[in-house]
Amino acid sequence: MIWLMAVTWPCHLDVEDYAGAGQTPFPPRLACPDCALPLALDGSYPRVVRHHGHLLRLRIRRGRCGPCGASHALLPDFVVAHRPDTAETSGAALAGAPGSSVPASTVAGWRRRALANHAALVAGVGAAAVTWSDDAHVVGADLDLAGLVMALWSSARWRTGPGLPRPWRLLNLVTGASWLATRVKSFWTGVGRVPVPAGDP
Ligand SMILES: [Zn+2]
Repeated sequence: MIWLMAVTWPCHLDVEDYAGAGQTPFPPRLACPDCALPLALDGSYPRVVRHHGHLLRLRIRRGRCGPCGASHALLPDFVVAHRPDTAETSGAALAGAPGSSVPASTVAGWRRRALANHAALVAGVGAAAVTWSDDAHVVGADLDLAGLVMALWSSARWRTGPGLPRPWRLLNLVTGASWLATRVKSFWTGVGRVPVPAGDP
């Protein structure tokens, strides 16, 4: 069976600009998460996202790896795998930002999922902090999710400077869009991934 994996990429566009672009934006050159060889672009599929209460239709490009035959969904960093709400929408609601358009029951479900993933997220953010800033001390298990996201962003900013995705998009990027999945599949400081057994992520 060839699994469709999600490969996330840093997208400099706002969600509205991505959705409204005349041509589906192109990701940077990405490597196959299985064999690390370059992916060839291979069509696209339609996706609907909900961004701060607005439904937006967009397309997601696919990449195919010639040597291993795998197909990968190339998710811009605001798309959370198998979730309609964008990373920033989910993050703002989880952080308790006023004016959220997300039903409380939905936020409660995300909160349970994020709590279940907390240990993996702490470990991943700690590893990223070491990679980016040589300082794991900014990350502790006592941090809540919003605190972890800010620790991640701060350590990345130290290394990467301007052009860094905004905090919740960065979390989504480095977890391969899996931070609200049943399991955080990987935590990577570049391109993340999450195996998807069926359906388009
Ligand atoms: Zn491959």
